[in-house]
Amino acid sequence: MNDILACLQKGPEGRLHPISFQTACQARDLSLSSGGEAFGVLIADESSPSLDGELSALGLSCVFVYEHQAFSIFDETIYSEALLDIIEFLSPSAVLIGATPEGRALAPSAAVKLKTGVTADCTALRIDSVGILVQTRPAFGGNVMADIITPYARPQMATVRMGATLIPSQPINGKTRILRRDASRLKLFSGLAKSLLTALEPEEDESQKRVIVAVGAGVREKNDLEMFKRLANLAKAGFMCSRALVERGWMPQGKQIGLSGKAVSPDLLITFGISGSVQFQAGIKGAAKIASVNSDEGAPIFRIADAPLAGDIYEIAPLVIAALEAAASKRRS
Ligand SMILES: Cc1cc2nc3c(=O)[nH]c(=O)nc-3n(C[C@H](O)[C@H](O)[C@H](O)COP(=O)(O)OP(=O)(O)OC[C@H]3O[C@@H](n4cnc5c(N)ncnc54)[C@H](O)[C@@H]3O)c2cc1C
Repeated sequence: MNDILACLQKGPEGRLHPISFQTACQARDLSLSSGGEAFGVLIADESSPSLDGELSALGLSCVFVYEHQAFSIFDETIYSEALLDIIEFLSPSAVLIGATPEGRALAPSAAVKLKTGVTADCTALRIDSVGILVQTRPAFGGNVMADIITPYARPQMATVRMGATLIPSQPINGKTRILRRDASRLKLFSGLAKSLLTALEPEEDESQKRVIVAVGAGVREKNDLEMFKRLANLAKAGFMCSRALVERGWMPQGKQIGLSGKAVSPDLLITFGISGSVQFQAGIKGAAKIASVNSDEGAPIFRIADAPLAGDIYEIAPLVIAALEAAASKRRS
């Protein structure tokens, strides 16, 4: 139960990704303080045997390898099936994943299913005196370094930034065992179907549109999003949001604007029910014009909006929709 699992990643040119050496090294170092063992897991397509040389030199107790054709294109839903399988098998105390784009998608996908937390982009890790993983990462826009712990849920999950630790504190002795686990019994196909559909119908990147409609916590019900989506469609605009709606689980993270979301630079940004926190504003510095609807005249967004509209979004949005529909039918006739 004190074991540490490093999730290894394949890199370019058929070699291990450099971040894998780092996560393996951190897992080894942490296991010395936790009193457990350090393991690795590699999820890869069927060309992974070429990595055995590198894997065996990582200084881990064992690396478990899942190979399947379904892993040839990264998809967090598919990859998390293998990660969950090894976590169930080993019950590690902590899981470390390199903060590559794939690692950043895989960690939360697995953490949600495990009902545990994940600390993203850690720059340092250590085990405290009672055996808990202390996960250090920049917070509040990088102004402070926060020590984050996961006191109860297990495993403790962290993604680690490249360059955090590269030098092992102990020399690597002995060969790492490599064990292949049967990936064909995993439920990979529901995930595969999803990734094929995504490949066939690539989602348009809303953040690149010239006009963006963004909605925030002022939206009262999930179903109400349809009205604002309709408005965005009529305006041929991207449809995005503040973090408040991502936290409610109403909008996907990919549509979040701000410090921990996307930076946008449309010709026109229209916000509905967004207060304009510093973190939201960090993502809209490139917008040429901003129009904002908010019932609170003192909302911070009004200090930067070119067109501040004080009012209820539920009264103003239907009026805008009606005006856009009238303009569209005029164009058609
Ligand atoms: C490290 C960190 C990173 C973060 N990153 C981001 C980020 O990337 N993006 C982000 O958005 N946030 C981020 N946040 C969260 C941020 O601090 C705010 O909590 C968030 O932006 C608030 O979202 P909001 O404006 O939708 O909600 P609120 O602040 O709750 O504002 C809702 C607004 O809606 C208005 N309103 C309510 N009802 C109506 C109505 N009927 N008609 C008109 N107006 C109405 C209210 O007056 C209010 O101004 C981050 C926070 C932290 C600590």
